[in-house]
Amino acid sequence: EAVVYWMRMEDLRIHDNRAFSLASAQAVKDNAPLLVLFVLSPQDYIAHDRSARRIDFTLRNLRVMKDTLAKQHIPLYTITHSPRTTLPDRVLSVLAEWKASHLFANIEYEVDELRRDIKVCELANQSGQVQCTFVHDKCVINPGKVTTKENKAYAVYSPFLRAWLPHITDKPDPLACAPDPKPNDLSIHKLAIYSGLFDSSVPAFVEGFELKLEDAEQMRTCWKEGEDVAHAMLSRFLHTRSRASQMGAVDPLTEGVKEPQKEQSKNSRVVKYKDERDRVNADTTSRLSPYLAAGIISGRACIRATMELSNAKKVDASRDTGIGRWVQEIAWRDFYVHVLAHFPRVSMGRPYQEKFSNVQWETNEEHLQAWKDGRTGVPIVDAGMRQANKMGWMHNRVRMIVAMYLVKDLMIDWRLGEKYFMEILIDGDLASNNGGWQWSASTGVDPVPYFRIFNPYIQSHKADPTGEYIRYFVPELAKVKGKGENFILRCTDVLTATCQRCMNHLQRLPKSLDILHLS
Ligand code: FAD
Repeated sequence: EAVVYWMRMEDLRIHDNRAFSLASAQAVKDNAPLLVLFVLSPQDYIAHDRSARRIDFTLRNLRVMKDTLAKQHIPLYTITHSPRTTLPDRVLSVLAEWKASHLFANIEYEVDELRRDIKVCELANQSGQVQCTFVHDKCVINPGKVTTKENKAYAVYSPFLRAWLPHITDKPDPLACAPDPKPNDLSIHKLAIYSGLFDSSVPAFVEGFELKLEDAEQMRTCWKEGEDVAHAMLSRFLHTRSRASQMGAVDPLTEGVKEPQKEQSKNSRVVKYKDERDRVNADTTSRLSPYLAAGIISGRACIRATMELSNAKKVDASRDTGIGRWVQEIAWRDFYVHVLAHFPRVSMGRPYQEKFSNVQWETNEEHLQAWKDGRTGVPIVDAGMRQANKMGWMHNRVRMIVAMYLVKDLMIDWRLGEKYFMEILIDGDLASNNGGWQWSASTGVDPVPYFRIFNPYIQSHKADPTGEYIRYFVPELAKVKGKGENFILRCTDVLTATCQRCMNHLQRLPKSLDILHLS
């Protein structure tokens, strides 16, 4: 008999992983081999607009994990399955083949995934052979744990945060700290029958999700794989300062993955986060989103690390500190997962606010394509989209700017933007992406009011005051000199802003400047 841990795309780690830890404890208790199963499901990836970059990142991480696990005599076995409707049957037949007595997995909250897991449980019950355990793991605080006085889910962030904060702790998670299984002679002997699993390798690619060579190399440079890398990125964020205040002095494509310097800075990125996080022309945020989205590091580990750093039992996140602000970002991540779990309609392409279901959006293919390519004529929008196209990641402020530009200036359906983000981002995550898009489109929980429209030029002035970010990602503007409004106007002149709405935005720049030459 064996114990199986079914690893999913969102929990690609060994440490601080509840299902893996529970499976490992069970294996030790039963003196049984522990096996890890990973199912690649191309039809699900199509249905969920998964990016080839994210799939490639998954495979790279699986390879690292397979090697690490093999050293502990734990085989990781990958299967590719289509059609997705028969995936539960396939899992059950693998479990039967392995004579599994227990199956452990972390819960995925998307509707299709929940349905799949319910089916797996039903089939396991019918078989009477396998006991299934599915546990919460994705959030720092489980969905359902933080509710209003009426026992309802929060749909506004601030009260959610107030209720969420008292639950965070610097203690290791009791469900996730079983010791690594140390197989004894008996379980190694039993494992011999599974030795074929050790030999099977993680596939090089999933059909239909192959990356072009150049892109694959770019992704590998920007986003290295492995738990160690994720922890190094966290350490870099907590302990070292931003290399330079200006984009020109660092390479934004690779700076994020360099080894952390030994220096322990009092002015580290996290300490400066409150004041510098919205600066897009410097490397000020953690860049952990690809690792958090894939579960290569847990949100709990991030919170614990900030608490250790602040050397306190509780982080007072209401205090306006860098650490406090960063903890609040992790809370945003939890908030959107809770929303997804409590209001499943948001994962089915529907607005949270149903009254906005029938908005008539513009369907201008040319505008949509120009936005995707970073050719709108609005410098900060174009820089943001080109950054995302190039490195599979974008700063949060720029995500908000480009999203609002698509929805409220071009008046194009937010779902088309949400889909495109999923297709290109390496950190594409349904809950956070949907949350961000519905916030920008004013259709979601706790959204920006519908009448609030970012002025991309003013935003650009605030977020990229030197213009370095724009110069870097829009090379045709590299030679444009100056900063502030003058720079923006000169850039726009080169790119030619076309739509009337952009002209209106321009006219509302803080200082009155002669913009006649643009018309
Ligand atoms: P940091 O500033 O260092 O924050 C730390 C972590 O907190 C992030 O890694 C992330 O896990 C979480 N976080 C920060 N801001 C948010 C937020 N607004 N909402 C939810 N979680 C947050 N994030 C994704 O992980 N995947 C997505 O697909 C995604 N799509 C987005 C789409 C739009 C339109 C918008 C406005 C935001 C989106 N975000 C998404 C949230 C946010 O932009 C990214 O998490 C952040 O930019 C990642 O950079 P970082 O890791 O340096 O963040």
